Amino acid sequence: MRSSDSPKNHSFRKEVILALLLVVLTLASGFLIQVLLQIQANRRAEQRAGLLMVDTLEEFSAYAWNEHARSKAAAERLADLPKKKQKRLDDLQLDLLTIVSAASPLQEGYVPKLDTVVEEYQLDARCASICWDMMQDCRAENAGFPMICSAYRTQAFQQELFDNKVVRVMQEHYCTVEEATALAAEEVAYPGTSEHQLGLAADIIDETYPYLTEWQETTGTQKWLKEHAADYGFILRYPPESSEITGIIYEPWHYRYVGEKFAHEITNMGLTLEEYVAWRRGR
Ligand SMILES: [Zn+2]
Repeated sequence: MRSSDSPKNHSFRKEVILALLLVVLTLASGFLIQVLLQIQANRRAEQRAGLLMVDTLEEFSAYAWNEHARSKAAAERLADLPKKKQKRLDDLQLDLLTIVSAASPLQEGYVPKLDTVVEEYQLDARCASICWDMMQDCRAENAGFPMICSAYRTQAFQQELFDNKVVRVMQEHYCTVEEATALAAEEVAYPGTSEHQLGLAADIIDETYPYLTEWQETTGTQKWLKEHAADYGFILRYPPESSEITGIIYEPWHYRYVGEKFAHEITNMGLTLEEYVAWRRGR
């Protein structure tokens, strides 16, 4: 019998193997616990940051309008979030609700990411194809014959429109440049104050009545748009009897994109964009 096969040696080897096994098991379970704890911690962090996982306006709207998110606890969590991420939320919200008017001029040098709607007409890439779909659906339902007559305007183009208007006013009224400028500003937005420069607004008229007058509201296109525009995220930006708030006369042809959620809210509440934004800020 060889010495290694002795019962004493045999039991010693068994003890060593058992001890090693115990050490391995202890290490393995310790590692496993670490991993589980980490997973749990990650999950909690994700839950905490959950309300930030928004990439689209719809997701943000879902968050913003969620009862729970509006609760005090959620507000506290929001306050705890890194400033950069909070800013991202603000930008996302303010972007589509941006007001451009004489009282609130466009940020200098702003150029949106553009996409073509049709021919030479372009809009912000987020709403260009939606605008086209809206017009096509109006046609498909035999409601009217919509056509775009103005969409995105550059600063230079708005300047050109304004300057032309000043010249026309001077010719009509035989007045000074200063007087003509003041009169022109009543009908053509001063460069930097036109919503068309934002890229989210389009003038849509009916082919059967291609004129920018209040009578435009009687066309099939305008009747259909008034009813359905919100479903596409557009609002009638300058409604009747609102010029004191908007600073612009009633324009039945001027539609502004704000996204479906906000468009429904604004339309259902019967507010102008100015009133709606003020209401949101005051909540
Ligand atoms: Zn317009």
